[in-house]
Amino acid sequence: MKFAVIADYFEKLEATTKRLEMFDILSELFKKAKPSEIDKLVYICQERIKPPYEGIEIGMAEKMLEKAIARATGTDLKKVSSLYKKKGDLGLVAEALASKQSFKLVKPKELTLNDVYEGFLKTALTSGAGAVERKISIISGLLSRANPKEAKYISRFVIGRLRLGIGDPTIMDSLSKAKVGDRSLREKIERAYNLCSDLGLVAKTLFEKGEKALEKFKVTPGKPIRMALAERLPSSKDIVKKIGKCAVEAKYDGFRLQCHKIGKKVFLFSRNLENMTHMFPEIVDAVKRLRHKEIIFEGEALTYNEATGELYPFQVTITRKRKYEIEKVAEELPLRMFVFDLLYVDGKDYTQEPYIKRRKKLESIFKKEDILQPSEMIITDNPEEIERFFEKEVSAGLEGVMAKRLDAPYSAGARNYNWIKLKRSYKGELADTIDVVIVGYLKGRGMRAKFGIGAVLVAVYDDKEDVFKTIAKVGSGFSEEQWVELRKMLDKIAVKHKPARVDSLIKPDVWVEPKYVITVNADEITRSPLHTAGRTEKHSGFALRFPRAVSFIRFDKKPEDANTVKEIEKMFKMQKKK
Ligand code: ATP
Repeated sequence: MKFAVIADYFEKLEATTKRLEMFDILSELFKKAKPSEIDKLVYICQERIKPPYEGIEIGMAEKMLEKAIARATGTDLKKVSSLYKKKGDLGLVAEALASKQSFKLVKPKELTLNDVYEGFLKTALTSGAGAVERKISIISGLLSRANPKEAKYISRFVIGRLRLGIGDPTIMDSLSKAKVGDRSLREKIERAYNLCSDLGLVAKTLFEKGEKALEKFKVTPGKPIRMALAERLPSSKDIVKKIGKCAVEAKYDGFRLQCHKIGKKVFLFSRNLENMTHMFPEIVDAVKRLRHKEIIFEGEALTYNEATGELYPFQVTITRKRKYEIEKVAEELPLRMFVFDLLYVDGKDYTQEPYIKRRKKLESIFKKEDILQPSEMIITDNPEEIERFFEKEVSAGLEGVMAKRLDAPYSAGARNYNWIKLKRSYKGELADTIDVVIVGYLKGRGMRAKFGIGAVLVAVYDDKEDVFKTIAKVGSGFSEEQWVELRKMLDKIAVKHKPARVDSLIKPDVWVEPKYVITVNADEITRSPLHTAGRTEKHSGFALRFPRAVSFIRFDKKPEDANTVKEIEKMFKMQKKK
């Protein structure tokens, strides 16, 4: 497949503001790919080179790309930099300079998808002494063969600014349409994706081996399983009414990890399916010591106070993120992991087994007082007993409890009532915080004018339509430094028109690509004609009353991990009941 064809389609995708059009354009593009190419095309559309858990990044800074453009187009570096200042987009700079080159006498060989993908991969895998120079030379090699449009998209890709704004659901729908003409394969595609977290591999399997092969997809140690998520209910009574006799576990406020062991190798994945192995060396050692050759399990890792046994909240555990200090931090802040699910042991897939069977096996492997220990758990159908357990956990500083249906399988990649969270709430606040995606910002007035940002326009996710719908403007909760930093980060992902997957009645001063998730608290959920979340012909949308940020950017969440419109609707109803 010629890369020029892809560049043409990318231009169409960039121009559309409608998600349905996006779906049509993308499925047409996928139809043009050979089975041996589709995985690469899918990765490029996801704006990556390999699935996220492989952690393969291209590692090109803007300055490096400027050099590659200068070299490929025979332009002075200073001129490239000054053009960049003027245009604000290195893609446009490359496009303009490549146009000037099109009078070349000897036409270079046209780029194919394989050429470009291999170039990206080689760049990403280049490391060690002289890596910067070699990376520049690979990319300038590609650019010197590119037509102007290709040069634009290659340049944007290598610095992570492709910004096509295509979500995984749109890719899955489009793959289905490309293969069978409609969305009917979506469920099968999604199931396979949930089990391996590698959409390129799923697409390739579908295009090369067909639908039957998708149905046979299995859990594989080393490939993260997309995580099961919890619903919420307002009280223990509602929980018992909904799922009857159930397991109730302590809800730990730590770092969720999915641990994989294959022989001597251990991998730890975050909720976001990123590889976090380097962050938790003591957990890696403990997993290595397990007697099972192959195992996949999940739990919550937490730091604690050795003297008092008190568990620290997430904010303390996360200080480990700073790589270079891990050994020192590990000494000061010892770690424990509360294991709450078992997914695979030595060739046997447990994901389809009922909770109670998984738990029994889990308790035969993990023992109390070890670094890896089973989560605290009771089984009951008595709301008062749940209440007492909840009070005990909350007074010990925990977040609340998680109720689990005894006969439920592990629902990879899904949020449903197989798990139900019950969290402590504070006066004058919603029973739970809400995760929202920033889709734009408003320039500040008064005090804030000096930062050039006064509030962010935020949205929740409509997973049915794969669209982000606005719910609030958030103007408080960040420190001055955070506002300054936020503005910088948002300017890097600013886009000219409303992104195709955003639905909004409000027009912010600056639109941004939906990328960053923040957690907010609010007094209540209300109805408002200003917002699109949950808006129907009969009802106006949902809005948050007095929203305030309680976290800076949640790097562990993708935009699609924000709360959904459906969840907001449920929370709205729950609040009315109270
Ligand atoms: P979510 O992960 O559901 O999108 P969130 O990140 O805002 O939401 P919460 O809503 O507070 O987190 O609760 C879900 C999280 O609770 C899980 O993702 C997991 O990290 C954590 N957790 C803590 N204890 C348990 C437990 N015993 N069983 C399952 N999950 C638990």
